[in-house]
Amino acid sequence: MPDRVDVPVRAAEVIADVDVCVAGGGPAGLGAALAAARLGARVCLLERHGFLGGNFTAASVGTICGLYVDAGGSFDYVTRGIAEEVAEALKARHAAVGPMPFKGTAVLLYVPWAAKRLFDHLVMAEPNVHLLLHALVSDVVVRDGRMDAVILATKRGPQAVRARAFVDATGDADLVVFAGGEWEIAPAGHRQHASMQFLLEHADDGVVLSEGIGALATAIAEHGAHLSRDGGAVLPTFRPGEYIGAMTRVRARDGSPIDVTDLEQATWGELEGRRLAEEAAAFLIDQVPGFSGAFLADTAPTLGVRESRRIVGDYVLTGADVAGAAHFPDAVAAGAWPQEYHVEGRSTEYVNLPAGAYYQVPLRSLRPRGLPNLWVAGRCISADHDALASTRVMAPSLVLGQAAGTAAVLDLREEGGADHVQASLREQGAFIG
Ligand SMILES: Cc1cc2nc3c(=O)[nH]c(=O)nc-3n(C[C@H](O)[C@H](O)[C@H](O)COP(=O)(O)OP(=O)(O)OC[C@H]3O[C@@H](n4cnc5c(N)ncnc54)[C@H](O)[C@@H]3O)c2cc1C
Repeated sequence: MPDRVDVPVRAAEVIADVDVCVAGGGPAGLGAALAAARLGARVCLLERHGFLGGNFTAASVGTICGLYVDAGGSFDYVTRGIAEEVAEALKARHAAVGPMPFKGTAVLLYVPWAAKRLFDHLVMAEPNVHLLLHALVSDVVVRDGRMDAVILATKRGPQAVRARAFVDATGDADLVVFAGGEWEIAPAGHRQHASMQFLLEHADDGVVLSEGIGALATAIAEHGAHLSRDGGAVLPTFRPGEYIGAMTRVRARDGSPIDVTDLEQATWGELEGRRLAEEAAAFLIDQVPGFSGAFLADTAPTLGVRESRRIVGDYVLTGADVAGAAHFPDAVAAGAWPQEYHVEGRSTEYVNLPAGAYYQVPLRSLRPRGLPNLWVAGRCISADHDALASTRVMAPSLVLGQAAGTAAVLDLREEGGADHVQASLREQGAFIG
């Protein structure tokens, strides 16, 4: 039994009282906050970092996946709504290029810095959004079976945000866990590993783009047995000489996936991630054409986490649903990204959907059991490990957030049924099939 101390009861000042409180400002939280605000709700968006975007910016992932479906020789958007809006806005700022064919589907390459500023602008353009940065949700208050408030750990001690409806977009299902809801975490071997992305500057674009990217796999096969990952990629940002390295697999000390809800493992993951980034950057500089004059400019602001806690909701979306392109009467989002696994060993496995097919996500997968005024979006929805392998990427996360924010607002108007949510999402331009 670990040593424990009692935490004295303290009163938390209520610093905001709104219709919808969204916890987590990653793609899912952004989608939720923008959708709810645009429907006229007063929204408080809470983010623990000093900027928005979650893995989009904090982990510098470098490509938006899950936007497109194969339309027989070209690629169409399959996730529209706020995902399409973000993609088009980045392109309009000359900060994104795509669709770029990749693994039988396509991605949109983007500049993380530009995404960070775009999200500032998108949120500041909504007078209904009250944004609080450096706002870590550390607890919740549940009254008579309903969420009443979230508690923030601040420099001034605990502070509270009260709301009538809540969206958990923390990626780790923090609100559901704090509220005593049902959740699970996959065991080692069935949980995605984390990665530390890194930024290389001063590469020779002419050489990298003509031979370097293609030569990477051969170089790894011939000289990269020491690297943490045998796949991986270098992603051009299309700013001169700049590439994002997506080449690390960060394991816990015992080789299992890192559980970032444990502070010791989270700390190790950051340190180990930077070590592996340095190792991979040195490899690129030594072995891959076009990188000999490059330097490691920085690592991503934080370790990128693909999978941690997932809620167990009214419906658990399964890998078979994704692989079989399942459709649901209460569908609120669509996706077509392959099931992408960063699990055992050093490789990354992709299992594609049939060409042109897409699956749907039902509203029930955003509903935690027994918590009536709470919705969940993003990588902690009610999905099993094999479904999450596809739904976790950023375009689906944005539109799952849009669906959760929409459902939360409509529920306050007693119009929270799937038919109302679908009608509203269609009006918002979000494709759901
Ligand atoms: C290394 C890596 C590479 C990837 N590559 C790609 C890719 O190329 N393309 C792609 O589309 N997807 C990629 N993904 C997947 C994708 O980035 C994520 O699955 C996606 O960002 C999930 O969105 P989310 O909003 O659910 O969670 P997150 O992006 O994790 O956002 C959660 C947000 O909540 C905040 N938060 C968490 N807890 C709290 C709290 N208690 N209080 C307040 N705020 C909190 C976090 O700071 C964060 O901003 C990658 C992921 C990783 C880790």
